[in-house]
Amino acid sequence: MKGVVVNLTVSTELGESCEGVGELREYGPLIRYSMSFGWLITALALATALLVIPVIHLITTWLLPIAGAVGFVSIIKTKATITKIKSDCPACKSAVLLRGGRDDHGLRESCDECNRPLIISRKT
Ligand SMILES: [Zn+2]
Repeated sequence: MKGVVVNLTVSTELGESCEGVGELREYGPLIRYSMSFGWLITALALATALLVIPVIHLITTWLLPIAGAVGFVSIIKTKATITKIKSDCPACKSAVLLRGGRDDHGLRESCDECNRPLIISRKT
């Protein structure tokens, strides 16, 4: 799946802002449901397979089903991601390359140079 380049606004909580670009990937319902059920089934199968291993099964029998359920919900909620964000920091003006994440009401990351929190939003 290939992403498309989108224009972004990177701003600080004080109102300073810069323009940037990022890679947007959108996930349709079919891919989200198949990936989330795949994650859940893998977690449950692994929990079942590890039942025969002494001591380890004391943790994996409850941890893997919980991780499977959390991953299931997280994957279903991820309708789009913005990654590879290139911009300048609005506060210290140094070039930043941000990892990005799920595209929902304002991504938050921090500048590598000055450590200030940055709010990333899609330009409309
Ligand atoms: Zn900075």
